[in-house]
Amino acid sequence: MDSLVTENLKRFKENVPKGVELVAVSKTKPISDIEQAYSAGQRHFGENRIQEMAEKAEALPKDIHWHMIGHVQGNKIKYMAPFVHLVHGIDKPKRLKELNKEAAKNDRVIKCLLQIHIAQEETKFGFSPDEALETLQTDPEGRYPNVQIAGLMAMATNTTDQAVVKNEFRGMHELFKKARQIYSSPEFKILSTGMSGDYKLAIEEGSNMVRIGSAIFGKRD
Ligand SMILES: *Cc1c(COP(=O)(O)O)cnc(C)c1O
Repeated sequence: MDSLVTENLKRFKENVPKGVELVAVSKTKPISDIEQAYSAGQRHFGENRIQEMAEKAEALPKDIHWHMIGHVQGNKIKYMAPFVHLVHGIDKPKRLKELNKEAAKNDRVIKCLLQIHIAQEETKFGFSPDEALETLQTDPEGRYPNVQIAGLMAMATNTTDQAVVKNEFRGMHELFKKARQIYSSPEFKILSTGMSGDYKLAIEEGSNMVRIGSAIFGKRD
């Protein structure tokens, strides 16, 4: 019989449209949960703490694509630079510089997303929409050749008011389209929005990468 993780994952694979990448958010969950999802074919996993991700990466198959979805501290980038697939939480220009440095040391080009602050909460990190557009205008590829800016990421306000959430996702999609006009890199194509509680709205509003944790792995402690 399939485990709960496997069943949840299957359901998501059937429900998430083609062209939308599913990142299974395994933060705080044990290796055995990740192995179940891996056996069911899942290869993209998201973690929010760099050291926890590095430990899991060490213990698990090397064809897993690891996504750093949490807040990035500059002094910890070195622990993920050898293997990370996509860094979602680049929240200020300085982070690009730091990521570039560690990527160069590992002889890699690391893909990242600019995190945009759209939620009403004070605590969420990120660029304002205008700051993100400004940053994209400063020739980041020329300045940071070991970093590839591959799109935008955001978290909506944590509220049951669907209209608020939908409006924020719509604003992100508009910003994404604007950003693509000024930043013509063909690799700039990811819009990472949507979690367990709001991924349907996010997909309706243009998301092509959803980060799903509790709906796959169950509640976190
Ligand atoms: C934890 C987390 C998620 C997943 O949240 P769920 O509600 O469990 O799906 C998605 N994105 C980020 C940035 C997170 O920190």
